[in-house]
Amino acid sequence: MERIPVAVLGSTGMVGQWFVRLLASHPWFELTALAASDRSAGKPYREAVRWIFPEEIPERVGGLPVVAPEPDLPARIVFSALPGEVAGPIEEEFAQSGYVVSSNARSHRYDPDVPLVVAEVNPDHLALVELQRKRRGWKGFIVTGGNCSTVQLVLALEPLRRRFGVEAAVVTTMQALSGAGFSGVPGNAILDNVLPYIPGEEEKLAREPRKIWGRMTPQGIEEAGVRISAHCHRVATLDGHLEAVSVKLSRPATEGELVEALEAFRGRPQQLGLPSAPAQPILVRHEPDRPQPRLDRYAGGGMSVVVGRIRPCSVLDWRLEILGHNTVRGAAGGAILNAELVVAEGLL
Ligand code: NAP
Repeated sequence: MERIPVAVLGSTGMVGQWFVRLLASHPWFELTALAASDRSAGKPYREAVRWIFPEEIPERVGGLPVVAPEPDLPARIVFSALPGEVAGPIEEEFAQSGYVVSSNARSHRYDPDVPLVVAEVNPDHLALVELQRKRRGWKGFIVTGGNCSTVQLVLALEPLRRRFGVEAAVVTTMQALSGAGFSGVPGNAILDNVLPYIPGEEEKLAREPRKIWGRMTPQGIEEAGVRISAHCHRVATLDGHLEAVSVKLSRPATEGELVEALEAFRGRPQQLGLPSAPAQPILVRHEPDRPQPRLDRYAGGGMSVVVGRIRPCSVLDWRLEILGHNTVRGAAGGAILNAELVVAEGLL
């Protein structure tokens, strides 16, 4: 099959660079254009970017000129890694001009006609695209992914929700530095420290799962009634968010049943054999001190989440630890998987 031309907006940032890295050898997509801010526009990519990976910038990509994020790019799919403050209207312009926008930004996550998709969890929400196009009169459309902490939480809890029902969860996050963007947290603020506040994060974690787990109806999404209480912390790890979770189920389950449900879980991306789909979306570690960010973040190439320490909870029902790669599964990799789903479902 001829590869589909794609572009990255915000290509010089933390998530943007992950897009560039993951798309460099993608079997379906060909990276043809890179956009960023005025600071970078006009320079070749290799001069504009402060490259974060040990390997060299892919040869062909390094020479591409960085341009402004305007809808005249030689691409059909546009991946957005723009800051939430600027992404909204730019993504709309692209969708209006006929591009499919797969976004990581928060700007359109709660729009009632924009799907907020974690590919294994709610692929059926892509049906909102039709409503979006009709309502807005656009040729293209916007699909968003969740916040990084939300993505790994809903993915890991999905098999439990399907089999036993999830009524409520208390989540304490330990979030990596890369989640704050390239120039996110000054070294002097985070070394020898834990920051017990990430602006907007607890609200996102409480709200996004209600939409993702919502029911698709002909009128739109009917939000789920699940209650999430989140405590979010920035810690001095580089990549990989760790979450300590207590969960209340609707029906009783044994530890063995939970493990079996998690390990057996497969979603639509696995069924379709999408190129970025990990063979097993949820891995369970049985050692008492796993998962750990340094050891487990690259499970399934960074696309699997790792669950461990499953044990009873005397307040809710069960406690567990969930680890996910925030910039891969929680951002660029997740958005690429969503775009693969869009293509496989014939929506391009
Ligand atoms: P980042 O490192 O700060 O990168 C921001 C990118 O946007 C850079 O390429 C920057 O270009 C560009 N940009 C900034 N202002 C712009 C403007 N006015 N016009 C055009 N381009 C502009 O941020 P990030 O961590 O990659 O995050 C990107 C998005 O993904 C955000 O919406 C974030 O909330 C979301 N997200 C991040 C994560 C994560 O783990 N980091 C996870 C999920 C979602 P210059 O280099 O030219 O300034």
